[in-house]
Amino acid sequence: MEKSDILSLSLRELEDALIGAGEKKFRAKQIFHWLHLKRVFEWDEMTDLSVQLRQTLDKKFCINRLFVQKRLESNIDNTVKYLYRLSDGNFVETVLMKYDYGYSICVSTQVGCKMGCSFCASAIAGYIRSLSPSEILMQIYETEKNEGVHISRIVLMGIGEPLDNYDNVVRFLSLISDKEGTDLSLRHVTLSTCGIVPRIYELAELRLGLTLSVSLHSADNVRRSEIMPVNRKYDINELLEACRYYIDRTGRRITFEYAVIDGVNSSDKDADKLADLLRGMNCHVNLIPVNKVKERNYRTARSGVADFAARLEKRGINATVRRTLGSDIEAACGQLRRDADKQRENGGEQN
Ligand code: SAH
Repeated sequence: MEKSDILSLSLRELEDALIGAGEKKFRAKQIFHWLHLKRVFEWDEMTDLSVQLRQTLDKKFCINRLFVQKRLESNIDNTVKYLYRLSDGNFVETVLMKYDYGYSICVSTQVGCKMGCSFCASAIAGYIRSLSPSEILMQIYETEKNEGVHISRIVLMGIGEPLDNYDNVVRFLSLISDKEGTDLSLRHVTLSTCGIVPRIYELAELRLGLTLSVSLHSADNVRRSEIMPVNRKYDINELLEACRYYIDRTGRRITFEYAVIDGVNSSDKDADKLADLLRGMNCHVNLIPVNKVKERNYRTARSGVADFAARLEKRGINATVRRTLGSDIEAACGQLRRDADKQRENGGEQN
C-alpha cells in the first residue's frame, strides 16, 4: 500500500486516518503540532508518541522532505535562491527575499509550466507535473529551517501557474493558515496568475483575503495573445470582467503585473491603452523591468519603466516599479531548474 503524504492532510483528515487505524483522536493534534509548529520531520523525534505509534505512522505515512540541490546567495541584496530536489528527482526553485518588514518567500506551484508565456524561463523548460500541497508547504518549512528565519509573507510567483494546480494550492493555503499550525494570515499571501478566468471566479467565492496578482503585460488583445498564449482562450475583456467580480466579491484590490519589454509593450500608446483599460478599477499596476532569459532577446531600458509609470500615474492609475532582487543569482524563476535539468540529461548531475 502506498504511504499517505501526511503533510498534505488537514487536521480533520489526520484525525480520521488515526481513528481508522485504531488510535485515539487527540494523537492527530500532537502529530500536527510536531509537523507544522515544531517542524520535526523524523518520527523518532516525536518523543511524546509511543514507539508503537511511531512505527504505525512510519508504515502508513511519509514525510516528503525537500533536498537542497543548490543554494545561491546574492552579493547585492541578501536574496537567497534554492534549487530543491523533490523525492522523485524533479527540481523546483524557491527564492527568499529580505525586506524592511521581514522575510518574504517566492514559492513554485508546479514543476515547469504549461502556459507558454514567451518571456518566461519556466515556459522554455517545459511542464512536468503539479506540486502536491506538501511540496508547496515544504518550500517554506525547509527554507525557514535552513536559513534560521521566520517568513512573514508568501508569494505564489515561482515556477508554475497556481490556478492550473487549483485544488492543491487551495489546500496549501488552508494548511499554512491553520490555527493549529503556522497560522499565517492569508492577507500576507499573494497569488499570481496569468489569467485562468474560471478559476478566478472560483477563488473569489472562497473569499480568502489573499492578494490576487494578475499578469497582464499588455492591454492589447493581439499583442497579449502573441506573448501570452492563455489570452487566446481567455481574452482581456473576459479577464477584466473576472477581475472586477473578484474585487466586488472580496473587497480586495487587485495588482496587475506588467513586465515592460522594449519594442513589445513599452510605448506611450501602450501606457495610454493600459490606463484606459484600468480606469476606475480598484487596482494597482506593478511594473517589472523584464528579466533577461538566455534564450530570448527581451530587454527593458530602465528609464523606460520610469516613464511608463509616470504616464500611468498622470492618467490616475496607481503604479509602482518593482525592485529587482537577486539579479546576480538568476532570481528570475525557472532558470536554475532548466539548467539543472540540462545537466541531468547530460549525465552531469551533482549530488
Ligand atoms: N504563472 C503565474 C505565476 C508565475 S510567474 C503568473 O503568470 O502570474 C510570476 C510573474 O513573473 C508573472 O507576473 C510573470 O509574468 C513574471 N515573469 C515571468 N518571466 C518574466 C521575465 N523574464 N521578466 C519579468 N517578469 C517575468
